[in-house]
Parts: sequence; C-alpha cells; structure tokens
Amino acid sequence: MKLQSGARVAVAGAGALGSAIAVRLARSGWTVTVFDPAGPGDNASGVAAGMLAPVSEAVFDSASREHLAIMRRARDLWPAFAEDFGIPLSRVGVRFEGAETWRASVAERLRGLGLAEADFTDEDWRIEARPALAALRRAAEAAGARFEPRAVADFAPGALMLDDGRTHAFDALVLATGPGARDGRLAPETKVLGPIKGQILRIATAPDGPVVRGDGVYLAPGEIGAIGATMEAGRDDRLPDASATQTLRAAAWALRPDLDLDAATVEVGVRVTTPDGLPLVGWSAAPGVMLAVGARRNGWLFAPLVAGMVAAYLNGDNPGPDAAAMDARRFEKPEGQRAGE
Ligand SMILES: Cc1cc2nc3c(=O)[nH]c(=O)nc-3n(C[C@H](O)[C@H](O)[C@H](O)COP(=O)(O)OP(=O)(O)OC[C@H]3O[C@@H](n4cnc5c(N)ncnc54)[C@H](O)[C@@H]3O)c2cc1C
Repeated sequence: MKLQSGARVAVAGAGALGSAIAVRLARSGWTVTVFDPAGPGDNASGVAAGMLAPVSEAVFDSASREHLAIMRRARDLWPAFAEDFGIPLSRVGVRFEGAETWRASVAERLRGLGLAEADFTDEDWRIEARPALAALRRAAEAAGARFEPRAVADFAPGALMLDDGRTHAFDALVLATGPGARDGRLAPETKVLGPIKGQILRIATAPDGPVVRGDGVYLAPGEIGAIGATMEAGRDDRLPDASATQTLRAAAWALRPDLDLDAATVEVGVRVTTPDGLPLVGWSAAPGVMLAVGARRNGWLFAPLVAGMVAAYLNGDNPGPDAAAMDARRFEKPEGQRAGE
C-alpha cells in the first residue's frame, strides 16, 4: 500500500517511536495527528535510561544477542538524528565492572559476538530520554503535526474512532502504542506482544564518567542518574514494588558502596517485546494500519531506524536492509515460508 503525499495519517502513541515517526512524516508532507491520552513522557520512553547500546544489549540481553548488526546500524543513524533535533548525544561509552568470574563471563560473551575482550567499549552511547522526547515533539509540531490527548479505539481506512466516540477521517493509522494495544483489535499482529515491567532508580548525585554495567545493574550518569533496571516479564502494571527494587539497590551497592540510595526515587515503565526481540514494523493485515511496536529494551536505539522505515513504507519506497527481520507479519507465517523469503 502506498499513500499519496499529503494523506492524513494518525499516529497512536507519543513515545519515542510515535514521536520520531510523527516528525519524519510531517516533514515529508503528510498531514499528521498524534493521539495519546498520557501526559508527555508518561510512558516507557520517558522512563528509559536513554542508552543507545548495541554492544551491551547483545551481551546482556539474550533476546538481542542475534541482533548486534541491526542494533549497530540503528545506532549509526543517531549522530545525524540527534543533530537534526538538537538532542545532546553522549558518547561516554560503557565500562564493565564486577567480580572476576562475572567479568570472565562478559569476556566470553564478547568473544562469542566476535568482539575483542575488553572492560570498556566506546560503541555504546546515551541520550537523556525526557528532553529528547520533548525535542521530537517540538520538531513535529514545528513541521505541522498536531497532538491530541485521546486514545485511538478503532480504525478502518477513512474512519478513525477515538475513545470519546468521535470519528475522524484518516487514511492510515500508525500503531506506536507500546504495551497499550495488545488484544489484536487494532491489528491482529499485536497479539504476539508481551509486556516487561521495568523499574529504575533515579538519583540526583550521579557518578560522572561512562555508563557502568555490573552484575544485574547499570549506573548511568546524567543530570539525574539512572540505576536500572528490573525485567519483570508478563507484568504491565506501573506500581513501584520494593521487593524488586531491593535487588537492584543491592546490585548497585555491590558496585558503589558509597552510593546514597535512600533518597532515590523509583520510576516504572512497561516495555513490550516480540518473541524474537525485534519490533514489528510494516503494514498489518488490518487495512491501512502500519505497525511500529515491540521495541523491547531498545525503543530509543531503534527510533530513527523505525521512523525511516515507516516513512519508506508509506511512500512506497524500499524500507531498507532490516525490513525482513522486523517484518510486521513475520509471526503469522509458517517457518518454511519465512526461510524462503
Ligand atoms: C526502565 C526502562 C529502561 C529502559 N531503558 C532503555 C534504554 O536505555 N534505551 C532504549 O533504547 N530503550 C530503553 N527502554 C525501552 C524503551 O523505553 C522502549 O522500548 C520505548 O520507550 C518504546 O517506545 P514506544 O514509543 O514504542 O512506546 P511507549 O514509550 O510505551 O509509548 C507508547 C504510547 O502509546 C500510548 N498509547 C497506548 N495505547 C494507545 C491508544 N490506543 N491510542 C493512543 N495512544 C496509545 C501510551 O499512552 C504511550 O504514551 C527502557 C524501558 C524501561 C521501562
């Protein structure tokens, strides 16, 4: 499906993916409205530590192990993207710190990925998530996109229904709803998505220097430091839960015994994942619905890549080398058919 330039596109969700897509489409001449009932940044994108971390993710997240090349390509889009939107990009890198046995296991995983053993990599970068989200929204609005604080309830080409019962004329719907629309009603492919609750600690006095990755924890510097994060598969509530964050605190203290965590605040977000850890990007079986969901722990890392792919799909252009791996309908096909693509 290809849309005429100027067509009316609704984007459901104003997280990292929806916002990056909105600005990209608005700048390319589409008439864009972003719908989201949540306040700005009141989502996983606002809570995130903002790491753009292909190497760490491949090392520490088993679901991302196979995706190092895609994650590196996604990261490499960031310098131009960040400059375009005035998002400060920190290239401080990541240091691996911990007991000898743990460092040996990291070294082994690095070797398994074809990377040199090291306690430091300058491959992983970082942004501040909330200011980045605000920058994308400003740029989208400057390009003509509108933001409306409503949820999308239903869609058919030409008729978008909101949660207040109003219907508006839109030609296409981009579903960037994070964990929000998983019942298959707006797009059947979303039924494969699973939520992963994440709790993260924020501290005012964060240590300077690179991000530190330790056993079961990371410490990220910044205006407000981040200590993260829990991975609670199957949970989509946003209630802080001391039993989970206690483990995080203990892991942080093991690395930095002098950290004052008593004043730390807890933030909670819900990631959403596909079975293979890559997002669903592309046309749904539902007419006129484009998917951009399921970015797991890498929504910020993937935002420029996914936005470019969505724009290419809508324009009828080539969505690039990662289209097959992220194909929105890949889980509905039999194994044999997939291999032959
Ligand atoms: C603790 C934590 C730390 C993380 N750290 C990192 C990190 O360092 N680096 C990284 O790349 N990623 C990180 N992530 C993951 C990242 O936050 C997510 O992958 C990313 O935010 C997903 O963005 P999104 O736009 O798809 O979804 P979200 O940010 O979840 O936004 C979806 C939006 O859709 C809205 N919505 C839902 N239903 C509807 C509807 N029907 N109509 C309209 N709107 C709707 C919601 O209100 C929400 O605002 C982290 C996540 C957590 C929880």
